[in-house]
Amino acid sequence: MCSQPPKEHHVDMFPYFEAAALLAPESATIGISGGEPTLFKAQLFAFLKSVLDKRPDLSFHILTNGQHFEEGDRPATAGLDQTRIVWGVPLYSHDPAIHDQVVGKPGAQKRLLENLAFLCRVGAAIELRTVLMQPNAPGLPQLARFITVMLPFIRTWAVMQTENIGYGRMNWKALFYDSSEGFEVVGRAVDFVRSRGVDARLYNFPLCTVPEAYRHLAPATISDWKRAYRAECEGCSLKAECGGFFEWHPREHGYSKLGAVQ
Ligand code: SF4
Repeated sequence: MCSQPPKEHHVDMFPYFEAAALLAPESATIGISGGEPTLFKAQLFAFLKSVLDKRPDLSFHILTNGQHFEEGDRPATAGLDQTRIVWGVPLYSHDPAIHDQVVGKPGAQKRLLENLAFLCRVGAAIELRTVLMQPNAPGLPQLARFITVMLPFIRTWAVMQTENIGYGRMNWKALFYDSSEGFEVVGRAVDFVRSRGVDARLYNFPLCTVPEAYRHLAPATISDWKRAYRAECEGCSLKAECGGFFEWHPREHGYSKLGAVQ
């Protein structure tokens, strides 16, 4: 379901990143969404070190598949102010077969767990991310249990709705999970981790698809430039707090229960 699949051509933008980051507004959080930034670890670590040293007000949120860390990265990561970096790392299932199938790489979950432990050892803040899909939705409560036992050191568990673009669009019928109908597994999983002291969040969920008791866990996470509302949203009392939809979310394959909340 990757929303940004590989392109045929790559232009290395690293020489421009530092100049751009140093021009960021005061106290900004800069998101690095990839491709996979740790394929360029030397450049990435040097860039982070330089910007974090020169701009003590800035922080970073970095999306990574968590496949490429190794013990030899310890000096470079130890040299970074980890209090100003959050690493967003995907884990799709407690079942290695499902996780590996989603990411298309045999052995990926095993490697990921080793590297999450590495990130923990270097004091990194981890936002574990699980995109909700038909293949992994039924196992969400088991994943919740797995997280509390194996990964209690994470900062946040984010359960995310799918984006209909890139591979997500190509595989939409097989992937999209209508959480407006089947919220029960999501609610049970979120309740479980929270009962064990792990923070949980719901990203990219239209608020009217989420039961009221869970809406405070669902911030408006869809970027403003790709956010859209529908005719049903007119007059909705939740619109100011609701992140709405990805602009390209298809009407015919979307949520079955949806509508303005008075
Ligand atoms: S009707 Fe629209 S604005 Fe209201 S909660 Fe649903 S998606 Fe959000």
